[in-house]
Amino acid sequence: MKISIIGVQGDVEEHVLITRKAMEKLGLDGKVIATRKLDQLFGSDGVIIPGGESTTISKLIWKDGMAEEIIRMAEEEKPIMGTCAGMILLAKHGDEQVEKTKTRLLKLLDVKIRRNAFGRQRESFEVELDVKGIGRFNAIFIRAPAIEWAGDDVEVLARFEEKIVGVRQKNLIGLAFHPELTGDTRIHEFFLSLI
Ligand code: GLN
Repeated sequence: MKISIIGVQGDVEEHVLITRKAMEKLGLDGKVIATRKLDQLFGSDGVIIPGGESTTISKLIWKDGMAEEIIRMAEEEKPIMGTCAGMILLAKHGDEQVEKTKTRLLKLLDVKIRRNAFGRQRESFEVELDVKGIGRFNAIFIRAPAIEWAGDDVEVLARFEEKIVGVRQKNLIGLAFHPELTGDTRIHEFFLSLI
């Protein structure tokens, strides 16, 4: 099994480490790599797009064809998980911030996202959420986006203060928070179980 963590910018190493830990827990054999170039992405069974700066990650993945390859893999029903900025990039529809910055999205997840949805006063915070299929989960939000609306094929996994902060659409998972920062491997185990 080969899992690629898109490694152009953001909290890449944290995802590499926790995905390895989740693999170990499940007794799976495989490798997890930080992928910075298109040829490293080939042959992956699943992809994670980490948090960071969506504008920057977007520019870099569209530069050398990684974006097209992620879209192709999603069409092959390989699991793709986007966390925070990664979820923004998976979305079909962005807000005015996405438009103003001309951020090119992958347009896979049938949702409309709002960047920095929790305001300036709450740049980062931690809350316990109920995540469908997982249970109580300590969620860390950092300048997090939220989902304004989700299409019929999208299953809501978690909400915080009425806002949608976790979704699944078949093989695609989008989370507004950072599951790689808690040491809790359950979300990454769930992701691996989709392979
Ligand atoms: N605010 C960032 C963005 O819009 C996302 C923050 C994060 O990934 N932690 O791109």
